Amino acid sequence: MSAQIIDGKAIAARVRADVAQDVAAFAQEFDGDVPGLATILAGDDPASAVYVANKQKACKEVGMQTFHFPLAPSASREEVVEVIARLNLRADVSGILCQLPVPEHLDGVELTGLIDAAKDVDGLTAVSAGLLALGREGLRPCTPSGCMHLLAQAAVRLEGAEAVVVGRSNLFGKPMAQLLLNASATVTICHSRTRDLDAVCRRADVLIAAVGRAQMIKDDWVKPGATVIDVGTNRTQDGLVGDVDFEAVKEVAAAITPVPGGVGPMTIAFLLRNTLKAARMQRGAI
Ligand code: NAP
Repeated sequence: MSAQIIDGKAIAARVRADVAQDVAAFAQEFDGDVPGLATILAGDDPASAVYVANKQKACKEVGMQTFHFPLAPSASREEVVEVIARLNLRADVSGILCQLPVPEHLDGVELTGLIDAAKDVDGLTAVSAGLLALGREGLRPCTPSGCMHLLAQAAVRLEGAEAVVVGRSNLFGKPMAQLLLNASATVTICHSRTRDLDAVCRRADVLIAAVGRAQMIKDDWVKPGATVIDVGTNRTQDGLVGDVDFEAVKEVAAAITPVPGGVGPMTIAFLLRNTLKAARMQRGAI
């Protein structure tokens, strides 16, 4: 039997509609104030400019404010540091996002780390990562949070489940594994040096692929009845494809996300959620 297709586009649309309602309630509660997202874009990478524009548009659609700080490709470290320091102090800025990658002469990890953890809507600072590791309240990275929401919406039981995450990046794999662990799954993290990767994947009740290799995960790597979340986005001659061989794997799995239309739409939806959450935390309302 073919798997249930987890419709990330529809689920993300519901998250965005909920955030829009919550922003309206926030404005009522706080004398017309609304959450605000500040974006910093250093450099002239066209793809980054599109990502930032999409994030701002999504914020406006749910009634949030946006503030944009474009910096020249030659912007010095000191200039970026100064912008972040100012934004950390502004009461109308609930969340700060420094679009990565930054130009080569800058250190994206260092700059992101200067964002006040209370405004770290990407959830990528050392403080946010530490809070996640400790299981304390904080802002979580958007794409892993989106995957957890997809699993919840698909009614996947995580407690005691074998979860395998393929990929160990700071952006996705590590926080994903941590969220699954906090949900009491038994978690294995795989990477480029993992031996017998196919056998490890076959153990998974929940298999999450974030590698960046088109259709690497084959149907005989997947346990019948598993849930498969495909985070990969690979541009090929046939268009955008995931890390999972979708057509074959959907005949084995119980539930699976497509690419596009699975995990992708969740990232911006959770950026909006994080911005609202940050605004509420800053007002002591969480
Ligand atoms: P990344 O930083 O390049 O990490 C890739 C990971 O895959 C690394 O841990 C690497 O292992 C591992 N890997 C590479 N080749 C492998 C192999 N043959 N077998 C097993 N593991 C292997 O990438 P990322 O930022 O985590 O992103 C991964 C994918 O997810 C990309 O396609 C990206 O576009 C996509 N993504 C999508 C979204 C979204 O939809 N919103 C968000 C984030 C990421 P090592 O650590 O050993 O090198």
